Amino acid sequence: LTLGDQSQAETIRKGERDLNDKLSSVWRLNSMGEMAATLAHELNQPLTAATVYLHAGQAELTRLGPPAEGPAKTIDLAKTQLLRAGDIIRRMREQVATGSRSFTEERASLIVLDLAPVFALTGQDTDTTIALDVEEDDDQVLADRIQIQQALANLVRNAVDAVIGREGARVTVTGRTLGADGYEIAVCDNGDGIPEDRIDSIFHPMATTKAGGMGLGLSVTRSIVESHGATLIVSRNSQGGATFSFRLPRPTESEI
Ligand code: ADP
Repeated sequence: LTLGDQSQAETIRKGERDLNDKLSSVWRLNSMGEMAATLAHELNQPLTAATVYLHAGQAELTRLGPPAEGPAKTIDLAKTQLLRAGDIIRRMREQVATGSRSFTEERASLIVLDLAPVFALTGQDTDTTIALDVEEDDDQVLADRIQIQQALANLVRNAVDAVIGREGARVTVTGRTLGADGYEIAVCDNGDGIPEDRIDSIFHPMATTKAGGMGLGLSVTRSIVESHGATLIVSRNSQGGATFSFRLPRPTESEI
């Protein structure tokens, strides 16, 4: 190993560390946004119900006779606080969802190929072949590079989890140019696939079949893909495993 090789290797390792750091901070932000969205959704109903009950209670009290001023005011205050709780959660959700996106013109193949060192490490650690098969021609897209890398890292992580420990465990990431229709990225594995009756629920936050799983990966991934004006599609591939794919738009396609 010459000195030049060494410093080159050093630079590459630093690049990998930087990318990993970026991915994990993006992951934290994204999962916070997803938790906030879930909370906003789940809490909305009880908060609304509590407000309605308080309102009904006030009306009942009024019917029983002229209400004492003190208790009526206290109930009003409680209602205001409930509304405020709802607003706080909604605002937090909006801030996290919109604050961290930046779309630029990118080469889709490079978005994928830059992750090769990350995938290589994952492959080694899990005894899984992670193959990249990416078309490099005609691959200009409009995308948030780090967000798409986050989405891909999530999909590959899931694919690896689905094949880990089996003979011939294999995950393939493909990139295909679709001409005017954009550029398609797919992650394909030879695991057991996803049962028909779970196809919808796997995208729900907190839906997980893994011990210690958070169940946020797919909901974050879907949010990222949808923020690009695309759809995250899941299907069963010819090996019986799962394929997740999405299509990135061309820079010239309508504004996101
Ligand atoms: P987590 O990985 O924390 O469980 P996800 O939202 O990423 O959360 O995935 C939700 C569930 O979807 C997983 O627990 C698993 O049951 C299923 N799943 C995701 N990807 C695959 C795949 N490639 N093959 C089979 N099942 C999958």
